[in-house]
Amino acid sequence: MKYVACYCRVSTDEQAKFGFSIQAQKDALEKYCKENKYKYEFYVDEGISASSMKKRKALQEMLNKSNVFDMILFTKLDRLSRNVLDANNINKILQENNCTMKAIDEDDIDTSTADGTFIFNLKVSLAQREIGKTSERINFVFKNKREKGEVTSGTKKYGYDIVDKHFKINPSEAENIVNLYKYFINVNGDMKKTYKYFIQHFEGKGYDALSNYLKDTSYIGKYKLYRKNVYLDNYIPAIMSTDLWQKVQDLRPKKTISKNNVEDIFSGLIYCYNCKSRMYKKVDNRTKNKVIRYCCNNSYLYEKGKEEKKCINNATIREEDIEQYLLENLFKEFNKYKLNAKIEKEIVTSSNLQKIKQLEKKVLKLKDLYLDDLIDKETYKKDYTKYTKEIENLKQTKIITENRDLSHIEKLLNSNYIDIYNKLTTTNKKKFWLSIIDKIYVYRRQIKEVTFK
Ligand SMILES: [Zn+2]
Repeated sequence: MKYVACYCRVSTDEQAKFGFSIQAQKDALEKYCKENKYKYEFYVDEGISASSMKKRKALQEMLNKSNVFDMILFTKLDRLSRNVLDANNINKILQENNCTMKAIDEDDIDTSTADGTFIFNLKVSLAQREIGKTSERINFVFKNKREKGEVTSGTKKYGYDIVDKHFKINPSEAENIVNLYKYFINVNGDMKKTYKYFIQHFEGKGYDALSNYLKDTSYIGKYKLYRKNVYLDNYIPAIMSTDLWQKVQDLRPKKTISKNNVEDIFSGLIYCYNCKSRMYKKVDNRTKNKVIRYCCNNSYLYEKGKEEKKCINNATIREEDIEQYLLENLFKEFNKYKLNAKIEKEIVTSSNLQKIKQLEKKVLKLKDLYLDDLIDKETYKKDYTKYTKEIENLKQTKIITENRDLSHIEKLLNSNYIDIYNKLTTTNKKKFWLSIIDKIYVYRRQIKEVTFK
């Protein structure tokens, strides 16, 4: 008989909300354990948020005892941890103690089976990638402007004015937005009624604007970067409480996938080998089995006779052909890539750093001596030039070339990924490719090059 620990958590502000009660979690877990004939024990953290691992006494106690349990159970991942990376840290502790974990209300958090572990690792690897991308973006694109809170795009946002490159609340527009949110709640999320209200109160705006306003996190002070899963704080002022915003989110119609929107598995990864631009998917609706093809948009422009952007790669490639090719040649492509995958690092050696600090001190002292009239201007100038030159020379960095660490991909490829892959849902297939592949370059129905993450 399996011995499992059931973990439940609710934070203070969640306690008020429906569906988050400790009792509901306990009931679901108890039912699950009974159905599976597990012996179980509860660990409950009440009134504590997921971010404070150390303050969660029950969690700590449970982890300390994890060597006696076969499995940790919880309803959803967000009960256990803030995100999948935190869950991965917890999982490391569990692994050392031969303990697994499983979310009973979510299919893809389950380390008790080989397939589940595979998908969990995919999620971790995707989340790590997202973090890497975030820091890159912030370092290279937004760093300076963002630190000053400056608006980086010129577009106005409803509810705000841009004053001296900063978002300032526009009081009447902000009031209008708050009233829209309240109206939406009053009519219990009825989109038809809300749209009627909207066109009366927001002149010249259409349905798209309405649905955008109803989900815009800017209104609670979280500015979302365009098409990225990154939110900036301290960038845009909030115009309503999180509570009001959240109520609207709970009522908002859930996204439905339209019939014409066929799920793809390579979207965003396919690039034109000729012009290096991203290739876009086209869905062929004529047949029953909808065929996804990728094409280079620049070749399309070429055919239309627009000379400024032209590309001769005018053949489309079928998604299933790409998939088949990759499954058969993944190892080959990976090894080909590995040979050339190097990174260049610029470094200042640590001994140089020491010398630079000493010289900088000397420069400061020199300035004091000169200011105190202990040396004349000529001496000061001469020594100053000498020291700063020496500093500059020491600051010359070495460029070191290292092999890229691709062990995370090797780990995936050394598992029986093809068997597992064939059992994955389309969404998880997509995650699989996203987690290992950076770009797939295609030219005239042929895969020319694959780069890895
Ligand atoms: Zn092209």
